Amino acid sequence: MKEKVYNFGAGPAKLPFQVIQQIQEDFLDFKNMGSSIIEISHRSKEFDQLLCETDEFFRELVSLPANYKILYCHGGAQMQFSAVPMNIIGRKPARKALYYESGNFAGVAIKEAQKFGNIITVGSSSETNFDRIPEFNKADLDEDASYVHITSNNTVFGTRWHEFPDTGDLPLVVDATSEILSRVMDYSKFGIIFAGAQKNLGPSGMAMVIIREDLLEHTPDNTPKLLDYRIYDKKHSLANTNSTFAIYVINLVLKWLKSAGGVEAIEKVNDQKAARLYQVLDGTQFYTGHAHSDYRSTMNVTFNLPDQELLAKFLEEAAAENMTALKGYRLVGGVRASIYNAMPLEGVEKLASFMEEFERING
Ligand SMILES: *Cc1c(COP(=O)(O)O)cnc(C)c1O
Repeated sequence: MKEKVYNFGAGPAKLPFQVIQQIQEDFLDFKNMGSSIIEISHRSKEFDQLLCETDEFFRELVSLPANYKILYCHGGAQMQFSAVPMNIIGRKPARKALYYESGNFAGVAIKEAQKFGNIITVGSSSETNFDRIPEFNKADLDEDASYVHITSNNTVFGTRWHEFPDTGDLPLVVDATSEILSRVMDYSKFGIIFAGAQKNLGPSGMAMVIIREDLLEHTPDNTPKLLDYRIYDKKHSLANTNSTFAIYVINLVLKWLKSAGGVEAIEKVNDQKAARLYQVLDGTQFYTGHAHSDYRSTMNVTFNLPDQELLAKFLEEAAAENMTALKGYRLVGGVRASIYNAMPLEGVEKLASFMEEFERING
């Protein structure tokens, strides 16, 4: 096997090594069944137990209020860009929803939602290339709207909503794909919070959707079965053959997080990790951070170098030292270090030291 690599990829992203090891150990014989997890029935009692346990782990980790449901939905985060309006935009006759455009995924969500109703972009930071979170104004809240949508952490640009806006009676819908379980959140403030699994939860292709029970009442009957939240709820996410493997990995990741002290403990480590990289960015003219310092993400740290040649050299030398997948997304360029829950402090320390040394030699 290749030497230990610190994978800073944005997603699919690094998972805890113990989880990957556990998967390998379990794989040939899941729970003494003589078959692997991907060969057993999703209707078996062993899988049912796993699913129930996964729910319990998640509920415990986020102190989920009893009136919220957990759904395991097909299609990753972007499927929810369609599912959310399909299920709840009909809450009010105006079929209107309010969106904050804080980055590219927010933009994609807006475009998709426009197929289903009247979508108002109430705030946008596009003019500053999404280096910040748009301003939230209570006056923009429109009682005719069915919900308000935000992207809590902007993966590409490296910004986040530090505090969630108080949207009053309007359900707040949160795309938390790139930061779910990375910090303590009060779930009672959310109407729906969803996350594609491939960043802090498990494999790609699935999203966890946490929904306040009363929002299950608005789905039109002609909604496709596998986008209908009511059916996911009624059938415990098994209306068809769901990705049993993805749910199994999520189960292991949640177990790992519990043993690491839960969300509160990992939040402290995440703050420490991010602070170390921002400390380098703040102490230099060589690197330029993309995110405005008031809105910085603790999951995706974005910055640039003085020119393209130095950038290429930086990426190449980092890779040679086993720090991979640091290239920024094309809309920002530069470097993006994604430091999700599974990235240990030592990986971040190694990157920070490398940055300092690279500047000393090339600055
Ligand atoms: C990665 C990401 C997505 C895209 O997820 P898919 O599972 O590929 O659809 C959406 N929103 C945010 C905030 C993301 O970080």
